Amino acid sequence: MFVVSACVAADISNPNIVFILADDMGYGDVGYLNADCKFPTPNLDRIGSEGMIFTDAHSSSSLCTPSRYSILTGRYCWRTYLKSGVLWGANGAIIEEDRPTVASLLKNADFVVTYEGEEAFTALLESLEGGQGLNEVPNLVYLKDGKLHRNKRASILDMDSLAAPDYSGLDLGRYLDRPVRLPLMTSRGCYWGKCTYCSHHWTLGSGRLRVRSPEKLIEDITSFKERYGANSLYFTDESVHPPTIAAFAEKVVEQGLKIRWVGTLRFDDAVDRAFLERLRDSGCHALLFGLESLSEYVQQIIRKGIRLDRAQRIMEHCRELGIKVHLFIILGIPGERPEDMEANYRYLLENTHLYETVQLATFELMVGSPMFRHPERFGIKNVRTHAALGREAFTGPYSDVFPSRSTSSQNHVSV
Ligand code: SF4
Repeated sequence: MFVVSACVAADISNPNIVFILADDMGYGDVGYLNADCKFPTPNLDRIGSEGMIFTDAHSSSSLCTPSRYSILTGRYCWRTYLKSGVLWGANGAIIEEDRPTVASLLKNADFVVTYEGEEAFTALLESLEGGQGLNEVPNLVYLKDGKLHRNKRASILDMDSLAAPDYSGLDLGRYLDRPVRLPLMTSRGCYWGKCTYCSHHWTLGSGRLRVRSPEKLIEDITSFKERYGANSLYFTDESVHPPTIAAFAEKVVEQGLKIRWVGTLRFDDAVDRAFLERLRDSGCHALLFGLESLSEYVQQIIRKGIRLDRAQRIMEHCRELGIKVHLFIILGIPGERPEDMEANYRYLLENTHLYETVQLATFELMVGSPMFRHPERFGIKNVRTHAALGREAFTGPYSDVFPSRSTSSQNHVSV
């Protein structure tokens, strides 16, 4: 956003700062310093060739969250509760509200567009070019005269009113994924929307499911093919809507479109062999499933609406049809007993033929989820955000010997 405000608001005289952060790079990964480096780094090379070389730099941490914390606050990152790991999308804020940051130093020169951006961001650009006042821009949060303003919300967007994603500014030939795979979202919100640990379906401001029509999706993929020569897709929905994806698959087959695609699907009652066959025929070659736990007891806690015997059948169908399966499992769900965790490991070890890959994540308390809003119903006590823990480190009884124990990346709970 700093960059945008620099581009469009030429009359804003406050300084703009652009941070360029490259993860997982070492000294020898810059071409200017090492002719044998494995990745081309032309822009860094140019900076180097123009004489700007820093060989005595220091990093506050080798991980993303702590180093960002340091850069934004100017504080040593270990002065937070986060001594290892990183924050995830739905974690609470690690920086306390009243903590000075680079952004607060540059106040009055920055904007945040919340919720859905298409309409609101366009309105912001128009406003900065001399259109309506900032107070008329929907979804905008901004500082003016030292005060924070939050504008009213824009209406919830109809998915079919949106243009196809535009990837024309990207050098797709340089992506490692071959053939190049383009992301496309078929829906916003979640048609299930009941999982007690989840708040994803609210992140765009409305839990209401909105889908892009199969006709529009066909237009999108046709344009991807024409514009970028791409026929491989990743549906980035939290979970594709079964009737929509089935209708889309039908059209792909009818029109003889040759595509390949991957997406996340629920172990839904609507998913049977015929359904999966249709997806496979339309080019689906891998599906990702949030199974979360192999314990019926935990399934009741999380209200995922999954029947484990059906999940097993769906995975068997996928294997027969040549659709690869990726599973997501969450360990440490509040209420999980040792035998539930054991059930996960046992199942995963005994059924390796049913899935290609599995992701074992530790539970994180998502802000806004039912578990976050009603912790007492799930036996969750003592919820403390990173920000609160960080403050405690300096004011609490152990402030002078703040423990150096390692922490996970979630909001901390006792159960
Ligand atoms: S976890 Fe997935 S299926 Fe459950 S409510 Fe969230 S987005 Fe929907």
